[in-house]
Amino acid sequence: MWSTPSQDWFSPGANLGILGGGQLGRMFALAARSLGYRGHVFSEEKNSPAGQVADSETVGDFLDEDAIARFSAGIDVATFEIENLPYETALRISEMVPVRPDPSILRVCQHRTREKNFLAANGFPVAPFVDINSDQDLQDGLRLIGMPAILKTVDGGYDGKGQCFIAKPSDAATAIARHAGQAMVLEKAIDLAMELSVIVARGSDGHVAHWGVIANRHEHHILDVSMAPGEIAPELADEAITMATEIAQQLDLVGVMCVEFFLDSRGKLLVNELAPRPHNSGHLTIEASPTSQFEQQVRAICGLPLGSTAIVRPAAMANLLGDLWDEGVPHFERISAYRNVRLHLYGKANPRPGRKMGHVTALGRTPAEAGRIVRKARNAIRGNENPQATDFGASVESTQLLPCPS
Ligand code: ADP
Ligand code: MG
Repeated sequence: MWSTPSQDWFSPGANLGILGGGQLGRMFALAARSLGYRGHVFSEEKNSPAGQVADSETVGDFLDEDAIARFSAGIDVATFEIENLPYETALRISEMVPVRPDPSILRVCQHRTREKNFLAANGFPVAPFVDINSDQDLQDGLRLIGMPAILKTVDGGYDGKGQCFIAKPSDAATAIARHAGQAMVLEKAIDLAMELSVIVARGSDGHVAHWGVIANRHEHHILDVSMAPGEIAPELADEAITMATEIAQQLDLVGVMCVEFFLDSRGKLLVNELAPRPHNSGHLTIEASPTSQFEQQVRAICGLPLGSTAIVRPAAMANLLGDLWDEGVPHFERISAYRNVRLHLYGKANPRPGRKMGHVTALGRTPAEAGRIVRKARNAIRGNENPQATDFGASVESTQLLPCPS
């Protein structure tokens, strides 16, 4: 297994630092443990999903010098599980231990305009966009791009947070009032045929691996269901994979990165956004592939050879949001009635609406079959008498955008 590691590799037993305490960090820490590494989490909150399962943790403000020093002193190499953390923190840590991916990649990907400028400058297709810093910019931008359009905060947004849909001129005033003083980007609303992602991993030796195309369905701007392999024309799959690979190479990535794509109604692929870390749409790799996205992140940052990314069984993943708790604690015991369905819970105490609490993954003979099973299993957990009666969360088409989600 460890036959051809690169020169700057970290052997099992090393301490892997993870910036951020969420579910991605939790699954990374579990993968690290299963390969014999130790995980050390840096989280701003106590009892975080990642902190609960890691070997050790530093709890403190990301900008606190003491906390940064304590975290760095206990690790051999660091990575991150979120983009919304101060670039300066990642940079400061990189003066003490290697940070992979490099903080410069975090800086590009944590800022929508910087990211879009990087993509456009390197010839990758993106939706038409305009930088917005004032009311006048917005008026000019809307004239240039047309409506419908989407106004997004340049940083700090996730799961559709910080986004406003502008269908008519009066929506623009509401959008500006809501985000007064924040730097924004205005993007043309794309008539979506489909959403896709490609998760790539790149080792320190430049070797790239990917799990192919994953098809994603969103509800209210939040990922709802992912299926792999994504069923699209092979030429389009190749085009998406080639773009994702080239983006990883251009950025000199060492680690795991998700490239989110829009497929528009005319069959054109556009890059939506980049996440230089494992991604919600890649959770199904835990069950579908010999190497999960989390194990691959461990391998990449430790300088080990990347593992096989074959999708050995079609799979589908459905998110479990806090809304599922509306009618009381979900009936998790019912999962055991489903063969080939696996439950993951993140250890979060407060099930707020829209909050990602866990997910379920199903394996099937085809991606569509896995998709049907995973929805049925989720319905069963929710406590519907007849699991086939309603497809929880499927009432809004993925292409339908709602105005100004909070
Ligand atoms: P986040 O960081 O919240 O994931 P995204 O830019 O990926 O932000 O937006 C979330 C979702 O909102 C997308 O996956 C898509 O469903 C919808 N969306 C965002 N931008 C556009 C757009 N320009 N055209 C159509 N749908 C969009
Ligand atoms: Mg997104």
